[in-house]
Amino acid sequence: MRVSRLSLVTLRNVPADAEIPSHQLLVRGGYIRRVGPGIYAYLPLMWRVLNKISTIVRDELDSLGALETLLPQLQPAEPWERSGRWQGYTAGEGIMFHLEDRQGRRVGLGPTHEEVVTELAGELLRSYKQLPVTLYQIQTKFRDEIRPRFGLMRSREFIMKDAYSFHSDEADLDRAYAEMAGAYTRIFQRCGLDAVGVDADSGAIGGAASQEFMVVANAGEDLILSTADGSYAANQEKAVSIPAKAEPLPEGEEQMLETPGQATIEDLCSANGLTPGQTVKVLVLLARLEDGREQPVLVSLRGDHELNEVKLTNAVTRKLGSSALEIAPITADQIREQGLTALPFGSIGPDLDDGSLKGARSWETRFLRLADPAVLDLVRFVCGANSSDQHRWGATWASMPDQIRTDIRNARAGERSLHNPEQTLQERRGIEVGHIFQLGSKYSDALDARFTDKQGQQAALLMGCYGIGISRLAQAAVEQHHDEAGICWPVSIAPFQVIVVVANVQDSTQVALGESLYGALRIAGVDALLDDRSERAGVKFKDADLIGIPWRIVVGREAEAGRVEVVERSRRSSNTVSHQEALSSVLEAVSSGS
Ligand code: ATP
Ligand code: MG
Repeated sequence: MRVSRLSLVTLRNVPADAEIPSHQLLVRGGYIRRVGPGIYAYLPLMWRVLNKISTIVRDELDSLGALETLLPQLQPAEPWERSGRWQGYTAGEGIMFHLEDRQGRRVGLGPTHEEVVTELAGELLRSYKQLPVTLYQIQTKFRDEIRPRFGLMRSREFIMKDAYSFHSDEADLDRAYAEMAGAYTRIFQRCGLDAVGVDADSGAIGGAASQEFMVVANAGEDLILSTADGSYAANQEKAVSIPAKAEPLPEGEEQMLETPGQATIEDLCSANGLTPGQTVKVLVLLARLEDGREQPVLVSLRGDHELNEVKLTNAVTRKLGSSALEIAPITADQIREQGLTALPFGSIGPDLDDGSLKGARSWETRFLRLADPAVLDLVRFVCGANSSDQHRWGATWASMPDQIRTDIRNARAGERSLHNPEQTLQERRGIEVGHIFQLGSKYSDALDARFTDKQGQQAALLMGCYGIGISRLAQAAVEQHHDEAGICWPVSIAPFQVIVVVANVQDSTQVALGESLYGALRIAGVDALLDDRSERAGVKFKDADLIGIPWRIVVGREAEAGRVEVVERSRRSSNTVSHQEALSSVLEAVSSGS
């Protein structure tokens, strides 16, 4: 391809709405253009990158025996209602774009495809003899994200590879899941990414295995906790640890503390010579459940610990048997709207009386009381006394109503690993590029997808599902591979592997040598660009750096003598050699994938 024909528009300035380097560079390099919030056009250079990634993904999945397919993006509401997800995905802050067609039928734009594929599998896969089967597709997904940001990292329309596997027994699901994890590791390696597999949250259904693949990068939205020896790595949403020991309270009788204006743990501690680990932090929250219930929740944590919202959502869902759609702090206004007396915020203890909910307009009238194991391990502690500006010093759990013991705190860097207490957790940020998941019979039960097993009995299909964010992966590669001058694509996913730059297109010797190198590269099957524009050489070099083609051959003043410059983009190293040598060294580097 000739750069003059590429409609390449590069920008020198950083676009105002692009916060992270990869987003800035993709816009500046003419790879993507914003069309609307969270909606991007993939320009020709980007489309080539996306296709290269897709080719690697197809290659690895095909070699597992998976079958490529293409499922509709427009999905009727019915299967989503049967699986119980329509409400959660469309109501309130639900992320599914949904609409009514001219006949008034409700449809959604696919954010994911479990429902559609499970119904199909139920119709097509009738006997154990047809199993196992893995279907996959590479397709645009739609999600009305609350906060679309960082370009392709979190967009509202993005390209995903999603795969679904069907099995007759657990062992076979385990096998396929492990094989998929292996394929994912190879895919990310082949794309030139430094990615790690981490334990991931598998939602409230629990039990089932789930792993995310994270590209390690400071711009990542996820926090990874891992041990230095690599034996444990988990998303903070899921990570567990041994908390640091809390300093015990000095001996002494339980007593009342007057704590005027000490509404935060910090103020309470500094005014009374306490450490946060000696206090109990109580959060008053409201959970909105899928079945319509509005459940007040009282959460107790050690004062030095933070709430983990994912663990909390799972715990509430498990306990109440209906999905918690939203859990948020209760406000003074809400208390008034329910017709209740004000709560002593800032001085609430784990024993806040259910009486304070009596007569609530729409809320349940008893608290769900959850307490983290670390807080329950405190023998004596300081907590709110449920009356304004008063705390109890030296309180014990014996004086408290029953609490449900459940892990709801964030594990943190510096804490010891639960799996190997010799190891300490470290933290890094990561971008989730892939997620694999054992679904079991969650969807096949709901959608009645059954097969006849070896014994002639009807049984629910067992399922796994496996996603890769193709467009997010492309941007994550830039986040990992760039410098101040631009992108440094790994050769395997670069839009072009080599760019031949003719420094001065008025010079016929340079043009002739440039054309001949370009032709030779193309004959050798290399994706090559020829910068034949009549721009100044400096502009062309800047553009080549910015768009990040791994190898550059510059045909300049020494063309007369048959000599050219070979530049390796990532190392910014340069060598002046004969044009034959340039060609053979670049061909060798490209074919070895470096
Ligand atoms: P996240 O936690 O980042 O919102 P998710 O867990 O909801 O993602 P999955 O349902 O597991 O995402 O989707 C599979 C893959 O699709 C993710 O691993 C990610 O790489 C990609 N992906 C998900 N949401 C987006 C998005 N809004 N924009 C781009 N890629 C996305
Ligand atoms: Mg995920």
